[in-house]
Amino acid sequence: MSELEELYQDMIMEHNRKPRNFRLLDGADRSAEGFNPFCGDTITIYLALDGDQVADIGFQGSGCAISRASASMLTESVMGKSLTEAEQIFDAFHEMLTRGPVDEAEHDQDDDDTLGDLGMLSGISAFPTRVKCATLSWNTLKAALRGDKETVRTE
Ligand code: ZN
Repeated sequence: MSELEELYQDMIMEHNRKPRNFRLLDGADRSAEGFNPFCGDTITIYLALDGDQVADIGFQGSGCAISRASASMLTESVMGKSLTEAEQIFDAFHEMLTRGPVDEAEHDQDDDDTLGDLGMLSGISAFPTRVKCATLSWNTLKAALRGDKETVRTE
């Protein structure tokens, strides 16, 4: 394993051990549930909105290290953001994990800026079943933002 891969691994394990914002939100405005049958990951996302802004966000659930770490990093990255910004981060994250390997010349610096630490999860794109673990929380967030009542399932 390269030094860089080890760094990514450490980061995922650290978020898995101590997930940020792992809590039920009293007085959440929105919530949504997600389920990834390929791995058994379950998640509930809670959102408190202040106008157009994510005032608070929390999640609960159980699942593999990647689903927990991704959810933990999601809560950190959208906290305090506007709904439009949250949507932009979602799009950049989704694209990073589904576009496959990119060569450096085409690398989009704007996406790096949008993603911040989430860029650490880019290595997961090489493992399609793991991509479902990493995107579960994001699809669930999107459902919460839309006010969907049905459980999100990875297809
Ligand atoms: Zn998983």
